[in-house]
Amino acid sequence: AQLSEPYRKISARINFSQDRIAVRGDIPMHPSQLLRNQLMSFFFFLLCRSINFGALGSIIGHELSHAFDNQGRQFNAKGDLKNWWTKRALAEFKNRTACLANWFQKFSAAGNRENGQQTVGENIADGGGLRAAYTAYNIWEKEHGPEGNLPTVNLTSQQLFFTAFAQVRPFCQPITFHSPARFRVLGTLSNSPEFSQHFHCPLDSPMNPSRKCTLW
Ligand SMILES: [Zn+2]
Repeated sequence: AQLSEPYRKISARINFSQDRIAVRGDIPMHPSQLLRNQLMSFFFFLLCRSINFGALGSIIGHELSHAFDNQGRQFNAKGDLKNWWTKRALAEFKNRTACLANWFQKFSAAGNRENGQQTVGENIADGGGLRAAYTAYNIWEKEHGPEGNLPTVNLTSQQLFFTAFAQVRPFCQPITFHSPARFRVLGTLSNSPEFSQHFHCPLDSPMNPSRKCTLW
């Protein structure tokens, strides 16, 4: 299933000291935009919660998770730069962060090895955002009942959730502190037991290794 353009135009960021996140997006709410987009995408964006949670939900979750990544964790609840972690929690955080950095280090693009340490903050946020959005979607589904399948799309609502997560990663983003989009998708989803469960990936296949790195 292909999402149409609007979700690709969403950008978001977090401000630690002000304790707030901002999400900017060209979401088709204005009538002229609705006309520009096909009826199907209108249906997708407004009615299909699995796509909403998988796309926009995972972006909001991503920004919130930055508050608990390797930089955000250094700020306290008031936005002050202050260590508030116990020694034990910090040691465990460092263990898990190292696991995640190694996880992404194994990817390489155009002959260049991914720098797992440099991109670890973004990859923490991707994993945390995915999990938070997945949990939120399942709470929504419990309260409202399961969503029906979309016509002509041979995916369950749970599979659609993960597909939307993958499609919303910005494929043209310059590689700086983010991993290339392809690795953000492969690295994060192969680390998700829920993804493997819904797509029935055999244990120890590339998208379902038995040893995973979970932070949040
Ligand atoms: Zn980020």
